[in-house]
Amino acid sequence: MIYELIGQQTIAERFQKLIGTQRIGSAYLFAGPEGAGKVSMALNLTARLFCQDSKDGIACGVCASCTKMKHLNHPNLHLIHAMPRGKNPSENDPYAGLSEADFTAMQDERVALTRDPYRDINIPGANQILISSIRHIKKELSMKPAESGRQVVLVLQIEKANIQALNSLLKILEEPPARTTFILTTGSLEVIPPTIRSRCQIVKFNPVPDIQLVEYLIAKGMDDSTAQRIARLSAGNVQHAKTLMEADFSEVDATILDFWRIMMGGKVGGRWVTTADITQLVESYTALAKSDPAEFRNILRFMVFWLRDAQLLASTPEANEQLINTHLISELNNFVKFYPGCPYFEMIRKIEAVLRDSEYNMYMPALLANLFLDLRASLLETRKIPNAIK
Ligand SMILES: [Zn+2]
Repeated sequence: MIYELIGQQTIAERFQKLIGTQRIGSAYLFAGPEGAGKVSMALNLTARLFCQDSKDGIACGVCASCTKMKHLNHPNLHLIHAMPRGKNPSENDPYAGLSEADFTAMQDERVALTRDPYRDINIPGANQILISSIRHIKKELSMKPAESGRQVVLVLQIEKANIQALNSLLKILEEPPARTTFILTTGSLEVIPPTIRSRCQIVKFNPVPDIQLVEYLIAKGMDDSTAQRIARLSAGNVQHAKTLMEADFSEVDATILDFWRIMMGGKVGGRWVTTADITQLVESYTALAKSDPAEFRNILRFMVFWLRDAQLLASTPEANEQLINTHLISELNNFVKFYPGCPYFEMIRKIEAVLRDSEYNMYMPALLANLFLDLRASLLETRKIPNAIK
């Protein structure tokens, strides 16, 4: 593989066979969650189609074609993604009228993709796949190719295409040019119009299984328990796993422990928790949601994992090995001991609802204040008062 690909063996083998028997189709729609490897699969497949010296169905990685593919500058590869609208946009050329800054940003993003195919192309101000991008490749495909052989049109995140772009693409798909393969990728199959879907063979990607993520993380130098923890947190998303490799877990642990201490009404920094602490918690989490939404959601996910661990321990005290936070076992045991009958499911559901709503720009202070007060009320109701202070 010339582009890193984790798991997805079944799909890779299926394409190796198709290419081996020269039965590659004219249009594929790669659908599945983010971070599953759709783009990486598409790039490897394209490299294999272009390679002049492939062995056992895999691109050689060293021939002239493979070298060009590694830099995404093979003339037969037509890459389409969301683009910013230039100042003087052209109907037929997405690059015309782009500012120098936009153009540089686009090139930087493409270079970043060559280094990490799990990374999204994210150009500031690029919200849509424009019709000019589709018209541009239509024109390119109608000309004599610079190199003989197959042409590949790779459309990233087709769900971002506006209606004109989709209609224009549909016309090409209805009468596909000879020796051309379209690969469209999407994380939201449900929003792709049936007209487009029916023209493509749909290839469904599943999240990468934990066991393969763990293997990958260990190969990258993570120790076994951190690798397990990251794999469970990433839920099959390689992009998330890569981000978490950089995370400072001791800081995350401190944040989570402080959070539950405040919820439990214990002592923080040597003094008893008051309602002012909750107000402050709401303020700091609101600020975090604004400044670093990804980190904010990570912390909320860690809250859920804490509760799942506690729930598991409450029902199966000998389940230590299966915990995500094995290293926080004594804190978890304390939690479980103090809150018999804790409504774990309900608390988890409430946090997950906030996780979902936070993506829609809801009013965070109210959302978080409600959540924290709810969690605290749930805990107070089930609190077991130790005998000594009854
Ligand atoms: Zn090659």
